[in-house]
Amino acid sequence: MEKQKVVIIGTGPAGLTAAIYLARANMNPLVIEGQQPGGQLTLTTEVENFPGFIEGITGTELMDNMRKQAERFGATFMNGWVTDIRTTQRPFVLSISGSDDIVADSIIISTGASAKWLGIPGEKENFGRGVSTCATCDGFFYRGKKVIVVGGGDSAMEEANFLTKFASEVTVIHRRNELRASKIMQDRARGNQKIKWALNKATTEVVDENGKVTGVKVTDNDTKEEEFIKTDGLFLAIGHTPNTAFLNGKVKTDENGYIIVKPGSTLTSVPGIFACGDVQDVTYKQAITAAGTGCMAALDVEKYLEGEMALDWSQTLS
Ligand code: NAP
Repeated sequence: MEKQKVVIIGTGPAGLTAAIYLARANMNPLVIEGQQPGGQLTLTTEVENFPGFIEGITGTELMDNMRKQAERFGATFMNGWVTDIRTTQRPFVLSISGSDDIVADSIIISTGASAKWLGIPGEKENFGRGVSTCATCDGFFYRGKKVIVVGGGDSAMEEANFLTKFASEVTVIHRRNELRASKIMQDRARGNQKIKWALNKATTEVVDENGKVTGVKVTDNDTKEEEFIKTDGLFLAIGHTPNTAFLNGKVKTDENGYIIVKPGSTLTSVPGIFACGDVQDVTYKQAITAAGTGCMAALDVEKYLEGEMALDWSQTLS
């Protein structure tokens, strides 16, 4: 394969937005689709908060449209799994499992982050039908209903608080007696009358009836007593794993594996490699913010390839 100007790894909203911009700029981006084409959005049902769609749009359709839009301007897609990037040479060399190596002048990493799962029966089977990993996306569907949030970190507190705007009652289930969340987030949640607590309990099963979640089974860690907690929806907030293992430490990440970018840009520790979307976003993790940083990455790549960018900010990284 001939040398690529730019390779985009990942096809969520970040990667596809970067592809649209770069294709329109005649950069002929090559986009590598991983195991989940379209990214996390294809796991949700209706997306009602992506601007421009009055009645909402399904996650799959939104991603399909973005892909077709990128193709219309000349982006090329290939299926593959990047296993390594040789970063010490220029151009870069990407190893792809089952395919030939790809050589590229620049790379955009938009491999996203995957929500963690409990790994219990009924969980994946009911995903999108009562089990969710995103309160911002799905909270609206639980107006006047009872929901459960699993987790004890800041995300769990934030999601529990957010869900009280819609739900009649939110129960937080956490595996320990102590919450991991920061004091301010804990205080806010504890002060919310709509939030109930089921602490020191392991969630063991999601129960459904006629295709709808009806409750979860929990076991108390001390007494080993089993309990059934009724609910209409279960929100998992036990953290995310950024998809950066394939980088083998060659691009600088924080202690949780998120790629560190220069603030206000998509520059990584390696000049010529850029990151956008959830793989570098500890805070927002929304489709629209991912798309926004995808646009930034495309513009950064253009500047880089035109030699107009002072890139080496990596020495400032500790
Ligand atoms: P987190 O801090 O890693 O917390 C994950 C929580 O899920 C922990 O309470 C953990 O329990 C629990 N958990 C993990 N695996 C589990 C399992 N298999 N079964 C049951 N429970 C499990 O993740 P996060 O809350 O998503 O936060 C990630 C980062 O983003 C943090 O640095 C956080 O401060 C930050 N954040 C900040 C804000 C904000 O400031 N507004 C909002 C959200 C997130 P244990 O406690 O027992 O380990």
